[in-house]
Amino acid sequence: MTYQNYSLKQLQQIDAAHHLHPFTDHKELRDIGSRMITRAEGPFIYDSEGTELLDGMAGLWCVNVGYGRTELAEAAYEQMKEMPYYNSFFKCSTPTPVLLSKKLAELAPKNINQVFYGSSGSESNDTALRLVRHYWALEGKPQKNRIISRKMAYHGSTVAGTSLGGMDGMHQQLGGAVPNIVHVMMPYAYELALPGENDHDFGLRAARSVEDAILEAGAENVAAFIGEPIMGAGGVKIPPESYWPEIQRICRKYDVLLMLDEVITGYGRTGEWFAAQTFGIEADTITTAKALTSGYQPLSALLVGDRIAATLVDKGGEFYHGYTYSGHPVACAVALKNLEIIEREGLVERVKTDTGPYFAQMLKERIAGHGLVGEVRSVGLMGAIEIVKDKATKERISPVGSAAVAVRDHAIANGMMMRATGDSMILSPPLIWTRATIDMAGERILKALDLAERDLRKA
Ligand code: PMP
Repeated sequence: MTYQNYSLKQLQQIDAAHHLHPFTDHKELRDIGSRMITRAEGPFIYDSEGTELLDGMAGLWCVNVGYGRTELAEAAYEQMKEMPYYNSFFKCSTPTPVLLSKKLAELAPKNINQVFYGSSGSESNDTALRLVRHYWALEGKPQKNRIISRKMAYHGSTVAGTSLGGMDGMHQQLGGAVPNIVHVMMPYAYELALPGENDHDFGLRAARSVEDAILEAGAENVAAFIGEPIMGAGGVKIPPESYWPEIQRICRKYDVLLMLDEVITGYGRTGEWFAAQTFGIEADTITTAKALTSGYQPLSALLVGDRIAATLVDKGGEFYHGYTYSGHPVACAVALKNLEIIEREGLVERVKTDTGPYFAQMLKERIAGHGLVGEVRSVGLMGAIEIVKDKATKERISPVGSAAVAVRDHAIANGMMMRATGDSMILSPPLIWTRATIDMAGERILKALDLAERDLRKA
């Protein structure tokens, strides 16, 4: 690769001159310069200076089988040689999306047997939004088009993704969201439970905010509820056990479709193929992306339930929607091989019975007692550490987010790549992590917490 002819400084200067980054303050980036990641192997990433970092985020919640999988490169190479691209418009198909769809129908919950492809989670959420509205129009109820989502939800960065999401900052920059989307409270007990309210009751109250929104709009005007089974970018917020069954009951009662966004939780992260199975949710659509290819190719799959699929077939009429790269042959070949690896190595089962419980135990026994930690939480290999000033009162360190950033910076300096969101430190590692990798992560995080506490208490 020709980049080796450039020094880090030169690459940083070219980066600053020509490359606009996602979710970045470009003024700040120009002052600091970007960290150049140049190599990766197994659970580790390496920067241009040779620094080794344990990747606690699986890239961006996606590299579930870890780095350096030659088989995935070969699957892409073989497919590119045979046929790099053909579209799936105009009654054409190519073999790899066909076979991938069959595989996904086998892995998905029973009521799901159809797949619509895109190249990103955002695109597939656009598809989901348009599809549920199309469904109700085909059913003769075009006014049943309102979508209920949650504050702090993340559903992507396209206009529809941003509108579905519940991030205030993103909405402010949107200058007009897709109409008819409303946001209710998030199910995050640690912050939102009332004094004396237990998790169970809080979960029911959070779910009933959806019912309130349905009643306010009139059920005849509500198309669907959308939610991440565990809110990811919003801070790995895990709902109480009472939440999803109540959401399901409410959706059924008012004939409101249930849309799940499993862009992060899909393909093994929670110890089942889908978090729908972990939480026992029967959904009408499930948005997936990221770990479908372990990030080796851009690919997303909207899994579509029988109810919607049957109406598309029964009523007919063209759904005016699709992407050049819907069902991309190379991306689908890589996805098939990736799913084969996950199955062959028993990674989903391993998360469920071994590494997931061990990860939870590590967080509880080694991290939860730390003076800066208000709460630890995890499901499978997805977790968060909540940073507070005072464990008893849950008082935060101000300004919001500053403490987690301090911990993150020390973590990175100590060989641990992890992310800070608000006051949450987030972990979503590759599913290849072993008990030894989890121990290594625990040590590095603890050290980062100690160093951050020293800085913060001094300040
Ligand atoms: N939904 C969820 C739950 C996500 O976490 C993300 C990305 N982090 C998206 C949608 C958007 O996916 P993408 O960045 O691939 O467009």
